[in-house]
Amino acid sequence: MIVTFPHMGEMYIPIKVLLDTSDIDYIIPPYRKKESLEAGVMHSPEFACLPFKTILGDFIYGVENGANFILFGGGCGQCRLGYFGDLQSEILRSLNYRINFVCVDLSNLSIKEVLKKIQPLTKGKNKLKIVKGIIYAIKTVYMIDNLSKLSRYTRCRETNKGDTDRIISNLHENIQNEKCYRAIKLLIKSARKKIKKIPLDKARRPIKISIVGEMYVAAHPYINFEIEKKLGNMGVEVYNNLCISNWITEHLIKKMLPFKLKNKPIEAGKEFIRTDDIGGHGMHTIGWSALSGKRNIDGVIHIFPFTCLPEVIAQCTFSEIQKKYSIPIMSLIIDEMTGEAGYITRLEAFVDMLEQKKLIKYTPS
Ligand code: SF4
Repeated sequence: MIVTFPHMGEMYIPIKVLLDTSDIDYIIPPYRKKESLEAGVMHSPEFACLPFKTILGDFIYGVENGANFILFGGGCGQCRLGYFGDLQSEILRSLNYRINFVCVDLSNLSIKEVLKKIQPLTKGKNKLKIVKGIIYAIKTVYMIDNLSKLSRYTRCRETNKGDTDRIISNLHENIQNEKCYRAIKLLIKSARKKIKKIPLDKARRPIKISIVGEMYVAAHPYINFEIEKKLGNMGVEVYNNLCISNWITEHLIKKMLPFKLKNKPIEAGKEFIRTDDIGGHGMHTIGWSALSGKRNIDGVIHIFPFTCLPEVIAQCTFSEIQKKYSIPIMSLIIDEMTGEAGYITRLEAFVDMLEQKKLIKYTPS
């Protein structure tokens, strides 16, 4: 069996660690390939959201290049993600691809149930190696997310523009050539050391922007036009809580605890909408926007795919949040037709406005 999986930000690194450790063959779709996105768009229903189309495009690339097993972590929330798996496997069958399509709902299945579902893939493989692979993959998720957090801090303060980006892009290039967890771990550690040595302008007080919205778009640089990098290079300190490590902590680790811990953004969001679930990450969008206001963040960028209903619902609460915390929120809607130039102009205008606002606030009258 040769497995393929869709991209979502840097998630390919822990998945690679898991598959390499478990001795499972795989095909990783290219990170930025216009053709795979075009294939996904061509075979998707017109009004499907962008994640559906890009994920389908990645599957088509993987299958065209020899994969015969698709592993997909879907879900069954209130949005369309719940039927991604069924619909995509139907589309692939109608295109005459003979594949094994396994969709695992990670938020509702126990580890035992997940292992049962992926049995065709793990049959004959060493069980200990698979367990090791899962542990290493989870560790890698946290290491990668911590590195991203550090790079968000240095990017906007570095004195030689591009230092952080150069280290991160070298890391990604080197990881492609490694097939062992220990080597990948060393690469991440050495990137972290190098980033910590970057000369910084520590006196600088950058403006702070929170990214909220649909998780796939917020976490996938290819789809969001590298929003974190762009803002960081404009001198903005970015806060992005939509990362996989937070998802694992919320959906897997906290669920295993014998007591219930409150979900901060959901609790904060309830003040602005009388429910605790509107599908996707809608509640988190409301909650993180409110928390950003409370924590003196200068502005919020709300990013989501065209036709994403949970985010449209979340957007309805923004006028109240903006009024209560006096925090500007800008929504960016992305689809396959979005042009990068217009997108950059909007980011620049927003940053400019926040800088002016800050200047007025701190200028003695
Ligand atoms: S949250 Fe929105 S974009 Fe994401 S899968 Fe659901 S409908 Fe699509």
